[in-house]
Amino acid sequence: MIDFNDTTEGREAMMRASSWYWATAMGIKLLGDTRFTLKNCLYMGKIMDDDSRFVVVMKGTQARITTAFMLRSIHCLKYGLYPQGVIYYFPSRDAVEDFSKTRFTPLINDNPCIKKHLKSTDSVFVKKVNKAFLTLKGATATKNIKGRKKDSMAVRSTPADEAILDERDLFDQAIVDMIPDRLLNSKFKRIVNLGSPTIPDFGISKCFDESDQKFSLIKCEGCGGWTNLALEFPNSVKYKRATTHEEYAPFFACVKCDKQIDPFSGDFVAKYPGREHSGYHVPHLITPYCEVQMVMDRWAEAQADGSKLGTFYNSILGLPYIPAEDRLTHSDVYACCGGDVMRTELSIGETAAGVDIGKAYHTVLIGNKVDDKRGKVIYACRVKGYDKVYDLFIKYNVKSGVVCLRPYEEEFGKFQAKCSLKDIQVYGSEYNPSHKQKSYMKTDEKAGIYTLHRTQAFDRSHSWVKNQQVEFPRRCEEVDVLVEQLCNSAKVLEEDERTGDRIYRYIKVGSGEDHYRSALNYFQIALTCLTHWQGLSAVGGKMSVGDSYNPLEWGL
Ligand SMILES: [Zn+2]
Repeated sequence: MIDFNDTTEGREAMMRASSWYWATAMGIKLLGDTRFTLKNCLYMGKIMDDDSRFVVVMKGTQARITTAFMLRSIHCLKYGLYPQGVIYYFPSRDAVEDFSKTRFTPLINDNPCIKKHLKSTDSVFVKKVNKAFLTLKGATATKNIKGRKKDSMAVRSTPADEAILDERDLFDQAIVDMIPDRLLNSKFKRIVNLGSPTIPDFGISKCFDESDQKFSLIKCEGCGGWTNLALEFPNSVKYKRATTHEEYAPFFACVKCDKQIDPFSGDFVAKYPGREHSGYHVPHLITPYCEVQMVMDRWAEAQADGSKLGTFYNSILGLPYIPAEDRLTHSDVYACCGGDVMRTELSIGETAAGVDIGKAYHTVLIGNKVDDKRGKVIYACRVKGYDKVYDLFIKYNVKSGVVCLRPYEEEFGKFQAKCSLKDIQVYGSEYNPSHKQKSYMKTDEKAGIYTLHRTQAFDRSHSWVKNQQVEFPRRCEEVDVLVEQLCNSAKVLEEDERTGDRIYRYIKVGSGEDHYRSALNYFQIALTCLTHWQGLSAVGGKMSVGDSYNPLEWGL
């Protein structure tokens, strides 16, 4: 092996080839009067050296990954590796301003070796490094025009060779989808996704799942076994005391033989080698300032107070987490599958239907009422066009339907009128986007429209499935699709940046297809009206109209 340090030429070659080598050799000053070093964070060097086209880092708190990629970007531009430059995206403009003031500007001012390569620009968010630009941007949607794709001026205008998305879970997916367009003229087209995970199957966790999934494994000097501190937590922590007078203190230990292991000595090992996207998991446990005692204190707190578990998983273990009550699992839904295959014959009994209207297809659930709490789906399918939906309504003797009002309101109106000629009561349904609606449902009897509180609608179908009060047909291909889609919604607590209001909202996770979930929400409502057609004396019958009527006292 050539020791490049021997010659000035060799040293210069290393400086050019490796951003961490450059940052170390230049003694780059960071916040708090510290200097860049890989001491106790070798993982950082490995990640900075990764020149894969797609890099993903799922990280816990204090992982220093933002610093790593900021330095890597400056290094690339200083050495002219990228002709067009780098765009570093933050979730919002406020986040950019905050970063620029508190971290980026000090980094430049404290390091003359960086500053001398910067040409002055008017903008605090665009720095010209030699010939290319380092641009800091907030990926906030600036316009949300009705019926048009979300667009952001910030995302649209600048070309680049590398795009870095920091705090990925806070990005608007519509904006993320546009970012690759910025790289079309580049021969590199590199995309880096960084961030702390929130919930599974979403944002950075979803990116990491699709990657080769490199985890830090620590080799035991005693038995030679490997330990993954985060995935094997809390078994990766043991307690000991030096003398009987001392208190027991926690330490990181080999899960095979309990011998103490060094959390900084890990090697990244890919779970799925060969995948195109290069993914790293960096839990707080392997970062330089991690204290085992603090970790165990916070773990004890989280054990006592379940509301702290999510934060513990996300920031300490660097793993996504969702409580069981916030997302349905496949087994929750399969547990509701009965023994009956989908009904293909005509129905004689009256049925209800929930229909989600989509651009590609309409999703239909048809079923009947078992008792005042339970329903049974007898048919589930995806069809194209309102005519097909109408044919199904006739075939299965649907008497009560709840159907998405949008996006085809005009067609819906015709469908509703056509159904009423056959004595089929059809309500259009829409979710109230404002969150100001307190009640679960507002009914416009004249127009035949329900306005639903979206979160409550999802909550209700969630408990319906959890409590096994709805039966689905026996497992088949279409039921597998239904199961997947019912699980593609997850409840998260969101804070409004301006007002500080905290609201629960269901977001799309997994593949993002959740049409069966909406259809189920609507089917649940359609069933409540069914007895209207069987006489007012029936249980759960629609006794009155207007605000006093709360059909969803039924069903839960
Ligand atoms: Zn061991």
